[in-house]
Amino acid sequence: MRKSGLYLSGPYGQYTGEYGDYIEWREKSISRTGKNIIIFLLAAVMAVVSVNPIAEYRNQIKAASGQESQVSVAEGADKEQFFLIPGGQQETIPGVPAENLKKEPGETLILLDPGHGGEDEGCSREGAEEKEINLRIAYQLQKKLLEMGYRVHLTRNGDRELTLEERAKEANETGADLCISLHQNASEEAGAEGIEIWYSIQNQKEESERLSRIIQKYAVQSTGAVSRELVESEELYVIRECTMPSCLIETGFLTNNAERKKLESPEYQEQLAKGIAEGINAYLHPKTMYLTFDDGPSEENTARILDILKARNIKATFFLVGENVEKHPEMARRIVQEGHTIGIHCYSHDYKALYASTDSYLADFEKAREAVKAATGVEAKLFRFPGGSINAHNKKVYQQIAREMTDRGYIYYDWNASLEDAVSNPKPETLIQNAVTSTLDRKKVIMLAHDVISETNQCLEEILDQFPEYQMEPLSEEIDPIQF
Ligand SMILES: [Zn+2]
Ligand SMILES: [Zn+2]
Repeated sequence: MRKSGLYLSGPYGQYTGEYGDYIEWREKSISRTGKNIIIFLLAAVMAVVSVNPIAEYRNQIKAASGQESQVSVAEGADKEQFFLIPGGQQETIPGVPAENLKKEPGETLILLDPGHGGEDEGCSREGAEEKEINLRIAYQLQKKLLEMGYRVHLTRNGDRELTLEERAKEANETGADLCISLHQNASEEAGAEGIEIWYSIQNQKEESERLSRIIQKYAVQSTGAVSRELVESEELYVIRECTMPSCLIETGFLTNNAERKKLESPEYQEQLAKGIAEGINAYLHPKTMYLTFDDGPSEENTARILDILKARNIKATFFLVGENVEKHPEMARRIVQEGHTIGIHCYSHDYKALYASTDSYLADFEKAREAVKAATGVEAKLFRFPGGSINAHNKKVYQQIAREMTDRGYIYYDWNASLEDAVSNPKPETLIQNAVTSTLDRKKVIMLAHDVISETNQCLEEILDQFPEYQMEPLSEEIDPIQF
């Protein structure tokens, strides 16, 4: 894999990485070596007229330390650019033209865009300048993302002024997969605080929103900051003009004294970077959740669930009860029309009668299958045992039933997470909690819920909000079942 970064080894130690880190590394190295070297380096920068910044840098190190250093740069790093290190020292490092920053096949390139720079300080309070905090967080974030194996570029590596057009252009020309702008917030309300993420409704709206929601979740988890509502925008130039999913993160308020102090500290900047990086990683590696609803259809409750799923463009799976299908055939048809998967639960939800013997189970199933076929035309192949494949009522017969059903070409699906909503008087807060705690961050989740329970549809939206990092999919015969 070609790297566009610097590879250095010399008296300051060894360095491999991209420019953003290089500056930090260099700053630390310089402060270790002593301030007289800074003065020497600055003099050298001004005195030496050289077409090769790397050779120049090597000379500087040799002059300052009396030791040889090995300095090399990836091909294409031939354009000189001038940067100011936050803190004011002028630095010369090689830049790479945009066409050489293009990613290699198979790489994921993330463009970080620290807002403002140069004359444009952004907002500032009590000596804290937005442009510098944005850059510090970008460096930390770059480091985390590089450790995760992503390729990362910054629109600026130092205190450089860039137009908004240049920022968006770099994102588009390098073929970046994601673009993340970093900013600090300000408000007339001194108490305003927290993380606020903006996304453009004109650029990859759905993906940008999902990216924003996931980053928000992880950044808030990592920092304990207040979670502010996501903001849709038509105006913010960079995120609007980028062609890839993008967002603008206001990591905190410089106008809030307590939050500003945190934002200035390297420890808090690192926590922010960690959360944002984890969010980006979760966005790029989505997990899958299969929402399943048992025991329906019912008139009002199923309709409400379907409305919520439709508004979010989510497809789920409904394991139907034959008796209820006969009562509400139009609802069973609506489930199918709206693209959800239908499975069989049973005809009559009576454990004793159902599990009296293998024959009683098969007879009930056949009745349910016919009812579903008659109402919807669907020949269901998926099914779910009432109570799950192994339960208190079917211990003696479940193996024989499972074998027989498998022989007939049916597939049963248990679950590995549950709202636990089939209890008397469920409380919405408890159902939300159950959903979160039983999911356990698994990569593949089959969630058990019941569309006949009104509390379930009351809190379904909140439940869905808990899982931005999951893609919601319907079950199908191709999906490997989860079986107890
Ligand atoms: Zn800003
Ligand atoms: Zn059931």
